[in-house]
Amino acid sequence: MKARFKAILIRKDGDRQSVDDVELAPDDLMPGDVTVAVSHSTVNYKDGLALSGRSPVVRRFPMIPGIDLAGTVEQSSHSAFKPGDAVLLNGYGLSETHFGGFAEYARVKGDWLVPMPKAFTPEQAMAIGTAGYTAMLSVLALEDAAVKPERGAIVVTGASGGVGSVAVALLAKLGYRVIASTGRPHEVAYLKDLGAAEIIERSELAADPRPLGKERWVGAIDSVGSKTLANVVSSTSYGGAVAACGLAGGMDLPLSVAPFILRGVSLLGIDSVQMPMPRRKQAWQRMAQDLDPGKLAQLTTVIPLSDVRNAASDILAGKVRGRLVVEL
Ligand code: NDP
Repeated sequence: MKARFKAILIRKDGDRQSVDDVELAPDDLMPGDVTVAVSHSTVNYKDGLALSGRSPVVRRFPMIPGIDLAGTVEQSSHSAFKPGDAVLLNGYGLSETHFGGFAEYARVKGDWLVPMPKAFTPEQAMAIGTAGYTAMLSVLALEDAAVKPERGAIVVTGASGGVGSVAVALLAKLGYRVIASTGRPHEVAYLKDLGAAEIIERSELAADPRPLGKERWVGAIDSVGSKTLANVVSSTSYGGAVAACGLAGGMDLPLSVAPFILRGVSLLGIDSVQMPMPRRKQAWQRMAQDLDPGKLAQLTTVIPLSDVRNAASDILAGKVRGRLVVEL
């Protein structure tokens, strides 16, 4: 293990938050039974929120941000892991209460680690990252709600973003007809290449919602929230289901009960952070089976650690397409 290693550190002094590139020593890491040499991390929307301080993601300072990491076990006193094992970690309080992935080393609880699926390199695992794993959790929730390809189309909101891009690619591969909603008309070709059959303009779903709209799709994966989610639910056909996983458009939900009591629509909440390990492993195994590696490459951009702060601002501004992988 190196005596000094690179990290990003968020500090707080009163109301003022600062973010710096620093060098740390192994003893600066938090307690844990596995030390991972981190080779890759990612920038998700939540990382944008943490680095900007715009939402109270970080609950302990100083903090190494980064909600995802992939790498190789360096030291372990956990029975399931030994030095040299390839692993990945999503969520579990990284960047909230425990040091995260924007550092060359992480010391974590072995119980939080997922063995790297054989199908993926660490870079590919982080191209998926929390956003892609959340897209798969959403697909699994729709499947559990009996939303099958033959029942109708699925709408994906925030389609050019991280969750959205992976959701489009996954759903198309699984045989669903995918309607992609985007505010970026210049990304139409990108979304069609990922597998979208139809594109709708983001503004169509941003109007004041009516209690019930025309039935347009049987399912949805929504990473936007607010009026968009309300419109998505009110246009879901009889017996359909909507997986709600994000808030890129706002945290409110101006919705009536009409879709639930008149159409039997289900609203499925998706949380990736504390998801129990068996479902995580199922999601990663399904990703290995159902995500086309060529499509994954199409939606990925690799950046160095030094670009993370700019990328964090860009993702909050809705300027990032697909997924960003951070190479340590
Ligand atoms: P991205 O920024 O990559 O994607 C969000 C997309 O939403 C944007 O690309 C854009 O797509 C659209 N969008 C952005 N701003 C607005 C707006 N004001 N109104 C409507 N649409 C907007 O973020 P991620 O994919 O990383 O995350 C998406 C959301 O999911 C976030 O809110 C994140 O916090 C949440 N999330 C939740 C998880 C969970 O456990 N529940 C896990 C992972 C993410 P376009 O330009 O195509 O319209």
